[in-house]
Amino acid sequence: MNFADSEVVGAILTAAGHTVVTTVEEATFLLINTCAIRDNAEQRVRHRVRELRAIQNRHRELRIGILGCMAERLQSRLMAEEDNLSLVCGPDAYRRLPELIEQVRNGQQAAETELSTTETYADIEPVRLGSNGISAYISIMRGCQNYCSYCVVPYTRGRERSRDPQTIVAEARSLFDRGYREVTLLGQNVNSYEWRVENGEWRTESGERRVENGERRVGFPELMDMVASIDPQLRVRFATSHPKDLSDKLLEVMAAHQNICRCIHLPVQSGSNRMLKAMNRKYTVEWYLDRVDAIRRFMPDCSITTDVIAGFCGETLDDHQATLDLFHKVRYDYAFMFKYSEREGTYASRHMPDDILDAEKTRRLNEIIALQGQIALENNQKEIGREYEVLVEGVSHRSDKQLFGRNSQNKVIVFDRGDAQPGTYRRVRVDSCTAATLLGTLV
Ligand code: SAM
Ligand code: SF4
Repeated sequence: MNFADSEVVGAILTAAGHTVVTTVEEATFLLINTCAIRDNAEQRVRHRVRELRAIQNRHRELRIGILGCMAERLQSRLMAEEDNLSLVCGPDAYRRLPELIEQVRNGQQAAETELSTTETYADIEPVRLGSNGISAYISIMRGCQNYCSYCVVPYTRGRERSRDPQTIVAEARSLFDRGYREVTLLGQNVNSYEWRVENGEWRTESGERRVENGERRVGFPELMDMVASIDPQLRVRFATSHPKDLSDKLLEVMAAHQNICRCIHLPVQSGSNRMLKAMNRKYTVEWYLDRVDAIRRFMPDCSITTDVIAGFCGETLDDHQATLDLFHKVRYDYAFMFKYSEREGTYASRHMPDDILDAEKTRRLNEIIALQGQIALENNQKEIGREYEVLVEGVSHRSDKQLFGRNSQNKVIVFDRGDAQPGTYRRVRVDSCTAATLLGTLV
């Protein structure tokens, strides 16, 4: 999400006559895009800002600004606490960056953290920063109003709003025409994407313009259908799916398009109904498992990944065991696993004591990590002997004689390069594996 935002910022600044550079030495302004989701993410940013003081002592005109969720959360307080900062700008205020930079150049500090209910940056074609020219992110909505009790996102990114589907399809088509072969549609809860057109001008999937009477609604399944119909050679991924809204209709659309990737990120957070209720996740373990069954019914080859939090407020050993049991049942291909980190302003921080000791959170987290490592390895061992269509992405970091790419299930496969070229699809047979990577041969 932050990467996609940095690309929007790049476009806004380039249009205003600035140049994006890649080293601190070349820069006169350094903008750091930040995440506030856990305390350690914020501490890393503060550490980096303090380290940059030494460079500012040598390079006196260098100014530093903080963008994104940390800017939104802490606002001008951040500039008071880190006195080498000159600018803070929240996620809905990026269009004002050129004037904020000007303000700093005129010797002032600048802060803008107003949240919007409508800003989607729909008209801005992002500058693809550090892109491999093959895969790109497309932001389809912003904000979130699910108010999971532990989460700071509704406070730092504001109300949920969806972007006009015509601009999304146009951006995906333009990427495909420029040689990109994979797009990932991004939102905090893509399943609640919704766009309504009332008695308005509408562009059909084939690009033709027409005026329709009455109302037309585009939900996430319809949007996926539109993007996947651009070209069968364009792979489409998405993140993130909130389990409470994962519909059979979306699974039907996915199953109908081979180029919609067979991978669903379905964050569970906990395997205990008591914890899910305390987290305000609005589903039960039984509902979640029903959605997992539905995914496997529609697409038996679909991989499932998740996010989980260890040591949330009041989590007992039984609750923790329920999470381990759920991991045994679902057998995820990958999981992002976190220790609960209390965030100021959230419902949990105001009403629920953060009562699991840090060492115990670490112990529970390590238990989940060890189990998931074992499951991922066993899942990968079942892949040996299978063949996959792989989108080749580049040279493997192990050896320049090898390339890597991903299959539809988002698994990384490394193979001897032969005559394969990045940006093309090749069939690869899996010969061996680790828990994280498949190793194969071109077929
Ligand atoms: N919108 C997505 C969803 O609901 O599944 C997730 C977005 S959040 C940026 C990514 C992940 O960070 C969450 O799924 C959750 O596991 C984790 N997370 C959020 N708040 C957290 C907190 N206070 N402590 C630890 N992990 C947290
Ligand atoms: Fe945070 Fe929940 Fe929104 Fe995800 S759905 S961003 S976890 S509040």
